Amino acid sequence: MSDGAERAALQGWSEEELRLRRALCEIGKLCYSRGYIVGADGNLSARLADGTILITPAGAMKGFLEPHHIARIDMAGNAVNAGPRASSEKAIHLVVYQERPEMQAIVHAHPPHAVAMTIAGIDLQQPFIPEIIVTIGGIPTAPFGTPGTQELPESIRAIVKCSDTVIMKNHGSVTMGTNLLDAYKKLDMVEHTAKILWLAHTVGAKLEPLDPDKVKKLLATRAALGVSTVNTLENSCAVTRRTDRP
Ligand SMILES: [Zn+2]
Repeated sequence: MSDGAERAALQGWSEEELRLRRALCEIGKLCYSRGYIVGADGNLSARLADGTILITPAGAMKGFLEPHHIARIDMAGNAVNAGPRASSEKAIHLVVYQERPEMQAIVHAHPPHAVAMTIAGIDLQQPFIPEIIVTIGGIPTAPFGTPGTQELPESIRAIVKCSDTVIMKNHGSVTMGTNLLDAYKKLDMVEHTAKILWLAHTVGAKLEPLDPDKVKKLLATRAALGVSTVNTLENSCAVTRRTDRP
């Protein structure tokens, strides 16, 4: 028996739980190494088949986690065992799992370019990049919510019903997926988009979104590509389009 399997047996983890605990550590390292989180920022979670949630612990550096550091909570946010204390931002995760029962993993990070765009008032919801339009759709921004209060999870509740990604103004991103890699992939794409727009903006370009005809043609390719995810270009939900500046 390997060290990991031996520890899992001792902890009473199932194969599924061990796999997800390891995946949370791996994706935490990736977020940290890519600069999407620093210090003890951010938090990640994954839902087990029994409906309970594995989530990164409060105050930990997500680049240095080990499987036994991960907390486990139920859908009411209560600890399932006497293990580590769950992230203080667990309510963000609970809102997403409540509103999107098909989603199994969530990554909340502080990607610098994407957050900077919300501070600068540049709206990532606008359609600029074909790959994003076809896969994610728009990238909406939620109004500012005070971290550590119920205001923050409620600020994203309506938006996550129709978007797999959201940027919380002046704060960070929430991306969700059918597994952890899927949630991470969307974070990667959000930050990459923000970086491209930031570069265009810093060289003085006026950020011109693609015109509606081109967007319509791109959205029409989704079905043939097997992409059916809900998105804010086709479903407005609570997303208000900013018009003050591109
Ligand atoms: Zn945060």
